[in-house]
Amino acid sequence: MGRPDGESLIATLDAGTSSIRCMIFGSQRQVLAMHQLEIRRIYPEPSWVEQDPRDIMAKSIECINKAVDDLIFAGYGAENIKGLGITNQRETTVVWDKRTGEPLYNAILWLDNRTADLSATLIAGKGKGQADCLQAACGLPIHPYFSALKLRWMMDNVPAVKESINTQSCLFGTVDSWILWNLTGGVAHGVHKTDVTNASRSMLMNLKTLQWDDKLIDFFGIPKTVLPQICSSSEIYGDIRVSHLAGRPVAGILGDQMAALVGHGCMKPGTAKNTYGTGCFLLANIGEEIKISKHGLLTTVAYQLGPESQPVYALEGSVAIAGAVITWLQKNLQMIDQPDEVDRLAGSVSDSGGIYFVPAFSGLFAPHWDTEARGTICGLTEYVHKAHFARAALESVAFQVCEIVDAIKFDSGVELSRIQVDGGMSHSNLLMQFQADMSAIPVCVPKMAEITSLGAAIAAARAVGCTEFFRGDSGSSSCDSDDYFKQRFLPKITPEERSQKYSYWKEAVQRSMH
Ligand code: ADP
Repeated sequence: MGRPDGESLIATLDAGTSSIRCMIFGSQRQVLAMHQLEIRRIYPEPSWVEQDPRDIMAKSIECINKAVDDLIFAGYGAENIKGLGITNQRETTVVWDKRTGEPLYNAILWLDNRTADLSATLIAGKGKGQADCLQAACGLPIHPYFSALKLRWMMDNVPAVKESINTQSCLFGTVDSWILWNLTGGVAHGVHKTDVTNASRSMLMNLKTLQWDDKLIDFFGIPKTVLPQICSSSEIYGDIRVSHLAGRPVAGILGDQMAALVGHGCMKPGTAKNTYGTGCFLLANIGEEIKISKHGLLTTVAYQLGPESQPVYALEGSVAIAGAVITWLQKNLQMIDQPDEVDRLAGSVSDSGGIYFVPAFSGLFAPHWDTEARGTICGLTEYVHKAHFARAALESVAFQVCEIVDAIKFDSGVELSRIQVDGGMSHSNLLMQFQADMSAIPVCVPKMAEITSLGAAIAAARAVGCTEFFRGDSGSSSCDSDDYFKQRFLPKITPEERSQKYSYWKEAVQRSMH
């Protein structure tokens, strides 16, 4: 590989649910260096999920330093790195004290369900009309998924948070803000900002104004002093003061699913991507007009690439449990040693043996938004063995995605012409084929595997003027060109077979909700 002198490079940090990774991209969007570390999840009670914010920060810095070391080892000049783009698990809530820099509680993760009662009380207290008003402003239903409820819970239950709010030293942020504040100097110099995509998952930001909304803030009783400044997804937020990237700016921030949308080049209305990670998130670009879903989808900011640029919106279907069900087969049931063994096990049988498995471990997200639903297996007989079970687990993810594809059609009238996919679970050929079969549209896997980080790199490159990296207005490479995709899975089953399987699935979902 050539190493052009002075080639501008862009670093990215992806703080995900399962791992943290730093990548350094060259101007042809090739990954030149990468370091990844697993991140521990803490389960203090059933349906509670936390991470230690100090662990997130320590691993972020370690990943940055090791990736930069690897880059230098490969013969590149670290001085050519022009900026850092951050992408992160969204909604996960961190609260810290700006005087000490210490977190006041563990990060409460996006899939944590501890605020189910609070959510039910808020919905009951306000009535449907008012809940709809909130959705009209922020695009989201009242649900434990979103940061406002997690923050409210900390304010009500963690004495240190109450105290620091009283002394006006409390700061709230999603993982992007926590990392940005620490990288830019913490207690002495920390910059307290977030971007529109992360803020749009809080329930506190108005989708039109792109600012904190007084009515929403009052509804949840959140003091304004704790909130970060909302910025676009592509601008200079502040200069890094720690790690091997000290001196470079943080120049891009996008929630991970929005970063994947940008990385996939889904910049035109009607284009869509689906990321199969711990959860699964299908986002369809709906352009510059806000559309509030009537079929259980979220309306969210897709990106705003620069303070002067128009925001672009997306309809999103979020599935709480996708790859997590494979991790569960691996760690809790010990059916497989590694996630990539699931295809071999599930592929040893030709179908799921008549079972339907709804992995509603912490309720169901889109389109049902039911916090009470629980994991359910229907159709169990003595015939069934573990391979059927593994197959049903994979299929459950595709069925959940089908419900979202339907909801997009009902909400927007748009029939997706294909789904562009990425994420750990997209390595499962069995799942990808079943997805194409059940959703009756092609499923396309791009050659470029690191789509989420690429999206963050595009946002950062644009802000620091790396035009060779950020090609043209859309920033997308042509995903219509023949050599863009590694694999295309085409639908193979008959409409009758599809509708029979889908109706059994829907029945299983109904049972999981009672
Ligand atoms: P995240 O960004 O949420 O941290 P990743 O995109 O890294 O997640 O994907 C990790 C998830 O994908 C894990 O839950 C894992 O079980 C699942 N996974 C990884 N490889 C495979 C595979 N080959 N087949 C099925 N599932 C997989």
